[in-house]
Amino acid sequence: MTATRLALEFAVTLRHDGHGGVADDLAGPEGLAVWVRERSALLDCAAGPALPDEALHTAVRELRAAVRSLFARAVRPGPPSSADAHRLLPEEEALRRLNAAAALVPTAPRLSWEPGAPPVVRHHPTGSPASADRIVAALARAALDFFTGPDRALLRACPAPRCVRYFVKDHARQEWCTPSCGNRARVARHHERRREVKDDAP
Ligand SMILES: [Zn+2]
Repeated sequence: MTATRLALEFAVTLRHDGHGGVADDLAGPEGLAVWVRERSALLDCAAGPALPDEALHTAVRELRAAVRSLFARAVRPGPPSSADAHRLLPEEEALRRLNAAAALVPTAPRLSWEPGAPPVVRHHPTGSPASADRIVAALARAALDFFTGPDRALLRACPAPRCVRYFVKDHARQEWCTPSCGNRARVARHHERRREVKDDAP
């Protein structure tokens, strides 16, 4: 599902930096420009701004904080990603921000029906909104679709050591975001057990 992919990719721009810290792919307007360019089709903006201005950069990051705060709610009773667990927004504020972002661009439903495929309805921007508003609204709409769709129940925060990723489970027994996280977690458990055995030894 496109919405799931976009909402997830947006959320995981806050990620583990490989050294025990947290890296942010959207830390500066340059990073945002690259990220948007790589997703211009998903974001419904054929040509985004060459370099997002400070206002767009702030709007996108504020929206991401809202989306991640609602991700934290979606994974309950499991724990949220540790990347921002200490600075989650109140749920009311997160919802208000998300809805305000989605409302930046009015949309109209449009039916398309390709040969050999089921008919689908998509909501397209109407009028000629500024590209910055299109980007923020498209990200917000993806999050709305994700939260109201079937994938929300499959969302998890990866419990592997140092990982801060959210992921959508592909199958019922999936515990980790990637096989490499699974390996790291198993190694950590193994060392933990060995330490316990040593501690218990006389
Ligand atoms: Zn992971």
